[in-house]
Amino acid sequence: MSRADVDATLPPDIVFDGHNDTIVALHIPESGKDRSFFERSDHGHLDLPRAVEGRFGGGLFAICVPPTPTGHDLPDSDAFVTDTGYEVPLPSPLDPAYAQQMTIAVMERLFRLETQSNGRLRVVRDTEELMSCLRAGTIAAVLHFEGADALDPDLDALDVFYAAGLRSLGIVWSRPNAFASGVPFRFPGSPDTGPGLSERGKELVRAGNRLGVLLDLSHLNEKGFWEVAALTDAPLAVTHAAAHALCPSPRNLTDKQLDAVGESGGVVGIAFHVGNLRADGRPDADTPLAEIVRHIDYIAGRIGIDHVALGSDFDGAVMPLELGDVTGLPKLVEALRGAGYDDAALRKVTHGNWLRLLNETWRP
Ligand SMILES: [Zn+2]
Repeated sequence: MSRADVDATLPPDIVFDGHNDTIVALHIPESGKDRSFFERSDHGHLDLPRAVEGRFGGGLFAICVPPTPTGHDLPDSDAFVTDTGYEVPLPSPLDPAYAQQMTIAVMERLFRLETQSNGRLRVVRDTEELMSCLRAGTIAAVLHFEGADALDPDLDALDVFYAAGLRSLGIVWSRPNAFASGVPFRFPGSPDTGPGLSERGKELVRAGNRLGVLLDLSHLNEKGFWEVAALTDAPLAVTHAAAHALCPSPRNLTDKQLDAVGESGGVVGIAFHVGNLRADGRPDADTPLAEIVRHIDYIAGRIGIDHVALGSDFDGAVMPLELGDVTGLPKLVEALRGAGYDDAALRKVTHGNWLRLLNETWRP
């Protein structure tokens, strides 16, 4: 597929989203609440009926391995309140054998959903498949790992997972692994925490470039971020984050990091987690939709409209009440329109920038 083909005009309210945790949420009985992807639920943020209503065309479907198979012991930022915010100890590294086994189990669930969907959801592996899904109204799911914890140090598993459909890889979640270190749950705080990439981590970047896998810098600490930026031959991608200047969470990007993403031709997907949007860092759902617009405006103003997109974190974060779940996406599109975004600008933010980036990163 030629690069120009991804610019084909889709309606400006069709969203291709940088991040959701839906497959893992469905896999873990407690957070899944026994909901089915195919039936409308009041739980969580994303299922097929709600996706259709919200004009959600597809996105990166993440596998973030929970610390235990039932999802217990996930960090709860409420439990570690400080005078000015919160401070959660960094979770320990996962056992790689467990991480790999769990990853395969969640992948199986995604492929099972694809089979059960009767053509309504497809796991896409190239931009041609992705575009044809978006045009046809089939949910386009890009398989993404949130953290390379399931990969062996020799990276044999990377090629195997690629063959199975992996097209996007976050180097870390908020824990160290054999490749790099993630930022902690802390507020306020700088992303400049801990060591950079290990030698294995540098090999991982080269291998990702060789395969044409998107390397996601979300949650990577600042040292690691700059080492990837110096090493990679692809535009920098941060699937779900926001602006540190507006909300000083270590999970957000400093102005210098934003500038580097822009200069590389890269993209930042704005995560909707209220605690990473609000200036006070409080995970309070009573947060206006305008907070998302504020971060989009800031990043578009600083590095250009070609470099900002969406990275909701549906089923993995606290959404603004006004948005609610995936059915609230049209409200966000209207809020952007109200803030002066015309159809051309909206298309870039809602799907065009991610499509361009994937087209430039993936191998044809
Ligand atoms: Zn995340």
